[in-house]
Amino acid sequence: MNELKFFNTLTRKKDDFKPLDGNTVRIYSCGPTVYNYAHIGNLRTYIFMDLLRRTLRFGGYDLKHVMNITDVGHLVSDGDEGEDKMAKTAREQKKTPLEIAAYYTGVFLKDIDRLHIERPEIIAKATEHIQEMIDFVVALDGKGYAYETSDGIYYDIEKFPRYGMLSGISLEDQQAGARVEVNSEKKHPADFALWKKAPKEHIMQWESPWGMGYPGWHIECSAMGLKYLGEEFDIHTGGVDHIPIHHENEIAQTCGLLGHPAARFWLHGEFMLVNNGKMSKSLGNTYTIDQLIEKGYDPLDFRYFCLNAHYRSKLNFTFEGMDSAKKSLKNLRNAVQKHKGAEGKADADVLKKLEADFSEAVCDDLNIPKALGLVWNMARLETKSDEVYRLILKCDDILSLSLDKVVEEKEEEADVDPEILALIEQRTAAKKAKNYAEADAIRAKLLEMGILLEDTPSGVKFRRK
Ligand code: AMP
Ligand code: ZN
Repeated sequence: MNELKFFNTLTRKKDDFKPLDGNTVRIYSCGPTVYNYAHIGNLRTYIFMDLLRRTLRFGGYDLKHVMNITDVGHLVSDGDEGEDKMAKTAREQKKTPLEIAAYYTGVFLKDIDRLHIERPEIIAKATEHIQEMIDFVVALDGKGYAYETSDGIYYDIEKFPRYGMLSGISLEDQQAGARVEVNSEKKHPADFALWKKAPKEHIMQWESPWGMGYPGWHIECSAMGLKYLGEEFDIHTGGVDHIPIHHENEIAQTCGLLGHPAARFWLHGEFMLVNNGKMSKSLGNTYTIDQLIEKGYDPLDFRYFCLNAHYRSKLNFTFEGMDSAKKSLKNLRNAVQKHKGAEGKADADVLKKLEADFSEAVCDDLNIPKALGLVWNMARLETKSDEVYRLILKCDDILSLSLDKVVEEKEEEADVDPEILALIEQRTAAKKAKNYAEADAIRAKLLEMGILLEDTPSGVKFRRK
C-alpha cells in the first residue's frame, strides 16, 4: 500500500495522511437534511464519501465514521434566515416534522444502499442530540463567544480572529459581501445563530437555559463530532458549498471551545451540474435515483458515471453521459467474465505493475478515474486468467461496481439495433405459423447483418459473428 495523500482544504495542498489514533481513522461527514428526496448531486457527494471509506479500508485501516441526519435546525438559507426546512415541509404536507424526517431518512438510506454507499458506523440524528448542543452553547457562552438577542444566542465572530481560515475569506470580506442585514441586533453580519428562540406556534422546540427554542444548524455537527469522535479527529467531509459558511462556522464553534479545529483534514466534493449550470431542489432541475431507474438505468450505472470524474472536479450530468456509463459498465463486466475460471497464465510482472499502479492512484487523493482505467487495462489483457479475475475483484472492493456480475441476455438485447430485434420477432412468428421458408430467409438476412441465431429450449438466442 502506498502512502495516502489527500487534498486538505484547510492547508490548500495535498497532505500525507496518517490517522491520529493507531489504526482507526475517525471521520465525520455532513449528512442530509431530510425534508426532501436526495438528488443525484447530493448522492455524488456521498459516493465520494464512500470511496474515501473504501480506500482507507483498502489501506488496512479500521473506521469510526459518523454521519449526521439534519432533522431540525437547517433554515431555508444556509445562514439564519427563513423558516426551518423541516418545519416548512411538515406544514406544507400537513404531517409532523418527525414523520417527514422518518420518511425521507428511510428513502435516503435505501438510495445509498442501492448505490453501494456503505452506511457509516454511526448515523446520528440532530433531534436526539439536543442536550449535547445546549451544553456546547452553554460552554461557548461561558468562554465569552456568545451573546443573546431577542431571537436567539449568536456566535460573536469578532472574538475569533481566525474566522475564514478554511475558505480564505477575511472578516472584512464577509462584512462587505453580507446582504442587507435583517437582524439589527447582530453585532457582525456574519455572526450566526447557535440557538434560536421559538415563537409559540413553532412546531419543533425544546427547553433550554434561554427558554423554549431550537438549535442553529451548525452546532449539531460540532456537538455530535465531539461526542462520538472526541476533541480531535482525522477527516471531515462535505460538499464544496459547505466551505464558506457551514464548515467555517463549525470551525469557529470548536475553536471557541477547544482552541483548535476538530478535524485535521477537510475534504470537499465538487458539485454536480445539470446543463453546465447549478442543480438544486429549489430550481426544480434535479433528479432522484428513482427517476433514473424509471428511465431504465441501474443505480450502479450512476455510480460508474460518477467514478469517471475526480471528486474535486465539477461533473456535468447528461443522459448521453449516463447512456455511455451504462454501456461501459456492461462492457467492462463482460470483459471481466472472460477471465473467470480461465486457465491462462497471466504475466506476473504485468499484473504486479497494474496492481501497484492501482494502489498508487487511489492513494493519491482518490484518483478513482485513473484507477478505473487501470481496471479496464486488467480486463483487456489478452491472456484470460482467473488470477486477473481475482485482482479485478480486489479492486472492486473500492469501485464497488459489482464487476463479477454476469450481464444478462435481456441487458444485451437492450443495446441491439431495434431492427435486428424486430427481425428476430418476425422469424419467431413465421416459425410459429410454420412458414419455414420465410423463417429461413430472415435467418439468412440476419446472418448477412452479422447476427447468428441459435434455437434453444428457452427460446431463440443470438450473438454477433
Ligand atoms: P443537503 O441535504 O442539502 O444538506 O446536502 C447534502 C450534501 O449534498 C451536502 O454535503 C452538500 O454539500 C451536497 N450537495 C448539495 N448539492 C450538490 C450538488 N449539486 N452536487 C454535489 N453535492 C451537492
Ligand atoms: Zn455539518
